[in-house]
Amino acid sequence: MSKKTNTTFTMIKPDAFKDGNSGEILAMIEKAGFRIVAGKVTQLSLEKAGEFYAVHSQRPFYKDLCAYMSSGPIFAAILEGQNAVERYRKLIGATDPKNAEEGTIRKKFARSIEANAVHGSDSDENADIESAFFFSSFEQFSAK
Ligand code: ATP
Ligand code: MG
Repeated sequence: MSKKTNTTFTMIKPDAFKDGNSGEILAMIEKAGFRIVAGKVTQLSLEKAGEFYAVHSQRPFYKDLCAYMSSGPIFAAILEGQNAVERYRKLIGATDPKNAEEGTIRKKFARSIEANAVHGSDSDENADIESAFFFSSFEQFSAK
């Protein structure tokens, strides 16, 4: 029996999408052993960005963050893999690219603490909430 797999949610943020780094980022994701089970190009309205990041509404960077996240297209995806949330947080690296380790997505592609290339869910519960925010339903395709 293989180990239990679960899912996490990611966005390739406007800076990385605009820079044409989506392909390389998705390649890093797949090489790290994740399976892309849903994905689409979309753009958040200012209001939707505010809803998505509501947890940060009291932080000083909230307004800028919402403006930035709604400034252009993004790639939203659901990733499946063993221990997906924790493993994916490791793969993306620290929020501030200055602190991100070598080999992480943010080390390679983030421009700044705000324009930091990718989002990754921080808990299983949030992974489900965030996935449902972008994908009302999705089919899972067997890798076999
Ligand atoms: P994400 O939730 O996007 O995966 P994270 O969990 O590493 O990132 P959070 O603390 O949840 O970091 O912050 C959400 C996002 O808000 C960050 O990814 C970044 O784009 C922005 N952000 C966080 N801290 C700052 C800051 N001090 N100044 C500007 N923007 C910030
Ligand atoms: Mg976060």
